[in-house]
Amino acid sequence: MNIYITLDYEIYFGENHGTVEKCIISPTTELIRIAEQHNVRFSFFVDCGFIIKLDEYRKKFSQLEKDYKAITEQVKHLSDTGHDIQLHIHPHWEDSYYNGDKWVIDIKRYKLTDFNEAEIADIVSRYKKVLTELTNKSIFTYRAGGWCIQPFDKLKKVFKENNITLDSSVFRDGFYVSEHYHYDFRTAPDKAIYRFEDDPAKENPNGYFTELPISAIRNSPLFFWKLFLLGRKNPYLHKPLGDGRAMAAPGYRKKLLTQYTDNPVSIDGYNAHLLERSLKKLLKKDFEHMIAIGHPKALSRYSIQKLEEFVENNKGKHNFTTYAQTFGRE
Ligand SMILES: [Zn+2]
Repeated sequence: MNIYITLDYEIYFGENHGTVEKCIISPTTELIRIAEQHNVRFSFFVDCGFIIKLDEYRKKFSQLEKDYKAITEQVKHLSDTGHDIQLHIHPHWEDSYYNGDKWVIDIKRYKLTDFNEAEIADIVSRYKKVLTELTNKSIFTYRAGGWCIQPFDKLKKVFKENNITLDSSVFRDGFYVSEHYHYDFRTAPDKAIYRFEDDPAKENPNGYFTELPISAIRNSPLFFWKLFLLGRKNPYLHKPLGDGRAMAAPGYRKKLLTQYTDNPVSIDGYNAHLLERSLKKLLKKDFEHMIAIGHPKALSRYSIQKLEEFVENNKGKHNFTTYAQTFGRE
């Protein structure tokens, strides 16, 4: 099995966005420690819109200099030591600004597809360029911010022009629509890898793009009751390391607590408890790839422990790899 531990590298996007140090730098330092100790590498989807904004506003607000330096140096270090840096777009940065005290984040255009074609072309090429310049490596894999990659026909041409050929945003049976979010992966095939053309959730054997979906798991409501209760009972172990709060996703929490839901396999918080079980299920299905998602900001002491155990138990039996290692053309 090829195992990809993938992280969306970003702060929070609600009113309380948290700090760069607590949401990104310090939890990622823990990941670097695990990687070094066990000689494995991880994939990071870097929210490069934030880097662009930091670069723009640090000229006016010198206190941002520290954040800009910390992020760009950590991303460079990750890349130089063999971790994979790939493209993660949260285009709401286009409408957001720093007021001298905090980021004022405007999410009315949360999805890339909320922008027009010319704007999309500009955003994708500018955001990709930042990462290419930081890493000097080929950026060819995408993960959509908030999984919102549809309708993909609005992005397809620009992705081709920018040599983005691999996507890792889909998780099977995922479905959520609200004011800001929109994704529907209920048509995705039960496969570890497939090709697509107009919709990453629809297989097309002749498609130009490859989808390496995030592995999915079906959770009972009981699992989330446990997750929320543990967080209250033992915050030291189960509280997220990031110091912000997630943006509102109306009805989402209620859905998790009242019905069976399909979720991405994740290393965030209590989800890391299910890594071994998910691997066993995928092995039974003869899948060749297991992709787990995570966010430095949403890791907890518990999930870091669980991830380390998972790596330790499986590094001899399976291949911990990255998108660049498996699909890179260099
Ligand atoms: Zn994100």
